Amino acid sequence: MNWLKNWVRPKLRDLVGTREIPENLWHKCPSCEQMIFHRDLDTNLRVCPHCTHHMRLSATERLEMLFDEGAYQTAELPESVQDPLKFRDQKRYSDRLRDARNKNGSHDALTVAHGTMGGMNVVVAVLDFGFMGGSMGIAVGEGLLVAARLAVVQEASLIVVSASGGARMQEGILSLMQMVRTTIAVNEVREAGLPYIVVLTDPTTGGVSASFAMLGDIAVAERGAVIGFAGARVIEQTIRAKLPEGFQTAEYLHEHGMVDIVVDRHELRDTLIRATGLLRNPGRPGELLPIPLPETATEMEAESKPEPEVEAVVEVEVVPETEAEAEPKAEAKPKARAKAEVQDGRQPAE
Ligand SMILES: [Zn+2]
Repeated sequence: MNWLKNWVRPKLRDLVGTREIPENLWHKCPSCEQMIFHRDLDTNLRVCPHCTHHMRLSATERLEMLFDEGAYQTAELPESVQDPLKFRDQKRYSDRLRDARNKNGSHDALTVAHGTMGGMNVVVAVLDFGFMGGSMGIAVGEGLLVAARLAVVQEASLIVVSASGGARMQEGILSLMQMVRTTIAVNEVREAGLPYIVVLTDPTTGGVSASFAMLGDIAVAERGAVIGFAGARVIEQTIRAKLPEGFQTAEYLHEHGMVDIVVDRHELRDTLIRATGLLRNPGRPGELLPIPLPETATEMEAESKPEPEVEAVVEVEVVPETEAEAEPKAEAKPKARAKAEVQDGRQPAE
């Protein structure tokens, strides 16, 4: 029946006119396997309305979600060395790069944008997991340096949204060197006294989690995100032990102090605005009072006469309330005195 598909269908389409029907109107939630209408999913920031599973976002979706009115400007990133090792596995690395660029419409895995969030200047760098697993090569390292320097020039906060499988294997050791470069980039922001906040999204692993993604002044994680260095299966095989439930999830890391806040995607923007606001406008500093030196301290005690008066007042108030208690005390005192007198009297006698 191939002629029906190859001949009749195109003819009919020509007659009717090509009407583009989006292929995937319904999405299947990878967690609860419920079908979700694409428009419902988009209005819900790609969070499953049935089980609140957070699906991965592209760089543009993420940026639109974060900036005020979804308005931002992308920064142009410098051209970096392409395929420095002339790497080839089943496919040439240069071919893989070209395919990823065509598919994603971006030059590499990192997109840098600037704009305002809650009226404050921010530079946001987003890793796109859709671009070769958000892997970090020279271009990503270069991009993060640009983002850091842009933040310093604009006196803006730097927010990095991470989603990565780690270093880009096709660039060998050069990709590992980006761990150092990105750390230096983060330090430049810190030296300028500007906030650096990391949003850890699903998944943040490998060299990215071992460098800039764990260096935030505040580490925010999206609910349910997988965050770790090596994969759970690799660890299990290496240490030959069963890993605890929920290992390497945002919630687990929060419990163990690696992550500061775990947020729902709906609260992410507000949380980031609040955090940057607190870091940028910490409020008026408290007054500094000098600590008195020991010598001056005794002088101050001598000067401050009202203190004994206050004590006297307290005693006067207490006595009438506890008459019953006060009486035995009054009795006890003479007894003690009497004993002391007796002792005194005996001592000279002996
Ligand atoms: Zn679901």
